[in-house]
Amino acid sequence: MKRIIITAAITMVMAVMCRAEAKIMLNSNIVKEGGVVKAVLYSNKPFSGSEVKFMGEKYPVFFRSYDKAAKEFTFLVLVPVPLETVGVKKLHIRYMMNGREYEHTEKIKVKKISAGRSDIQTDGKRAALGVNFGPENKIIKKRQEKRTSLKFDLPFIKPAEGEITSAFGKKRTYDGGSYGSTHKGVDIANKMGTKVAAANHGKVVEAATMKGHGVTVIIDHGGGLYSLYFHLKGVYVKKGVDVKKGDIIATMGSTGVSTGPHLHWQMNLFGVPVSPMDFLTMM
Ligand SMILES: [Zn+2]
Repeated sequence: MKRIIITAAITMVMAVMCRAEAKIMLNSNIVKEGGVVKAVLYSNKPFSGSEVKFMGEKYPVFFRSYDKAAKEFTFLVLVPVPLETVGVKKLHIRYMMNGREYEHTEKIKVKKISAGRSDIQTDGKRAALGVNFGPENKIIKKRQEKRTSLKFDLPFIKPAEGEITSAFGKKRTYDGGSYGSTHKGVDIANKMGTKVAAANHGKVVEAATMKGHGVTVIIDHGGGLYSLYFHLKGVYVKKGVDVKKGDIIATMGSTGVSTGPHLHWQMNLFGVPVSPMDFLTMM
């Protein structure tokens, strides 16, 4: 009996030590449009040639940590689900380990969100400035092209205190329908000068004044994840500096095309706007 137990124990230890495939833990197989698919990969050997495919796009796999005691590598996969996506999609994870190729497929069910719609009165300001958003968005996109190693710790924090006045994914028209768009971040409204903190650790890749987005800060959190802060008043950080989660980076303002003091907080994953609020509960 004792021998059987010992044999069983050794077999279990061997199974864990020689686990051929990586263990893949998915946050959930059900995600809302504009959400994030999160997978954590555990293995006793480093990977090579890892790749994730989702909706025709390829995404990298990022090294997260190595547990010396458990001799275990942890990798993180974050994949954006664009807005206006619904239905069942396949997530393919491929990696090389010990010279062998492994592929793992998960079905992801994408549900619709209903963030509402509204018309915003800007007295023609939005339409007049519309032409300026193109070059601004080009600069903003360029700042988010780098794929740096992971710097963030989950979860993220809400960068400012205040009321959410406009949800992510809200359909908007301006001045009675002269211009339409979908809200790509969340608006947090509070008094002028309210402190704005870095939502997580990272590097400031932009701190500039723009005509449409107003005073803007962009932070690179690594792993293709960036946080954007628009319509600020004062900025306390410069391009190139490292920030910690909770560091005060700016104050709330109403610069650019804005109808009152608020922070537009946006999270972009590989350039795709995803729901910022989801990062507050992501572990
Ligand atoms: Zn906004």
